Amino acid sequence: MSKKKKHSPLPVLAEGSILVDTHCHLDMLADGGRDAGQVIDRAFAAGVRSIITIGIDIQTSRRALEFAKKNSGVFAAVGVHPHHAGEVNGKTLAELKEMARDERVVAYGEIGIDTVKDHAPLVVQEKAFISQLLLARELGLPVVVHNREAHAEIHGLLKQHGPLPAGGVIHCFSGDGEMALKFVELGFYISIPGVVTFNKAEMLQEAVRAVPLSALLIETDAPFLAPVPFRGKTNEPAYSLYTAQKIAELKGLSLDEVARATTANAAKLFGISV
Ligand SMILES: [Zn+2]
Ligand SMILES: [Zn+2]
Repeated sequence: MSKKKKHSPLPVLAEGSILVDTHCHLDMLADGGRDAGQVIDRAFAAGVRSIITIGIDIQTSRRALEFAKKNSGVFAAVGVHPHHAGEVNGKTLAELKEMARDERVVAYGEIGIDTVKDHAPLVVQEKAFISQLLLARELGLPVVVHNREAHAEIHGLLKQHGPLPAGGVIHCFSGDGEMALKFVELGFYISIPGVVTFNKAEMLQEAVRAVPLSALLIETDAPFLAPVPFRGKTNEPAYSLYTAQKIAELKGLSLDEVARATTANAAKLFGISV
């Protein structure tokens, strides 16, 4: 067991082991004053060799694609987040479809339902979610699903509009083990954020134990949700290591076993070579 230290050093991967940060927002890191190039360099130095940067609306989807075009190892997802569900219409969908033609776009999202922040009425969120699920299917892209206190709604809609041949991921998973397994049954991966390192995250920790390693992914959701020992600070892709370490501890595996499996899962889902 690791001792509680203020500045635990970044866990070190064995030679040849790598991780994928399957969900972050490089544009928000840049807007927050971080040098995106340096963020990417630090990730690579730590062994996080692939980063998927995610759009939440048209403008950030474009920026995600720009980051992916400019940096090897960086890939993009494009889509409209439930907070911006009111912006989804024929024109935005056509623009996203055009962007998604680029081979650096490896997923569609983030899309979903958020009943916590509630920036758009639920019916609007549902409509935007469904129309984008259908677009993702048409494009043959896996979906990145944002699910905030909407497990039952999202599960129902995925079941109703599935199966999605390219699959998808429930990003920043926050439910329990039983709910996680229901999504796994639908062919979805469960992506674990840095929250799993928090003392009180027992439900998420239980979900990590319940889900087979073959269905787990790792993400930072940077700049949000930095893991311990950086909780409350700006998150960045390099910190995926802390999350991987915690998953290893919870599952009784080595860090490298977790790295190998989750990297293979990410490569399979997003069709990226790592
Ligand atoms: Zn999200
Ligand atoms: Zn996100």
